[in-house]
Amino acid sequence: METAPWTARGADGPHLVGSRCTGCGAVSFPPDRTHCRDPLCPGGDLVEAALPRRGRIWSFTDCRYPPPPPYVPPTDPFEPFVLIAVEVDGPGPIVLGQAPPGTALSSLRVGGRAELVEGTAAAPDGRHRTVWNWRPLPDADADPGGGRR
Ligand SMILES: [Zn+2]
Repeated sequence: METAPWTARGADGPHLVGSRCTGCGAVSFPPDRTHCRDPLCPGGDLVEAALPRRGRIWSFTDCRYPPPPPYVPPTDPFEPFVLIAVEVDGPGPIVLGQAPPGTALSSLRVGGRAELVEGTAAAPDGRHRTVWNWRPLPDADADPGGGRR
């Protein structure tokens, strides 16, 4: 398995690596390389930023048919999977990712908490790549406010 360029490994596990603008503090993922996304930004440098590993579930859905290539279904026949959009703590960017296999859609709720974990995805060349997944956390870690902070 290849090392994913989008992660850094901290003492507490893998982190997504984004960028932070020194001019306005905006955090982006995938990282910005040429310019800040904020049209009102006074300008600044873009520096690498390891994002927090947890966030709030902003939205979710399930994918009931296989995405087009280069997606490679991990099973034959295809099995639906869950997609979760998580607002990374900070507040950081909203990052879409798959839930680990076996995650039930009924176990999720907007405002719940999720944590980044590593997963695998098949590639057209037959190899497997490391990908990020959002693993839902028990409701004890949920954000009671629900809405965007
Ligand atoms: Zn900026």
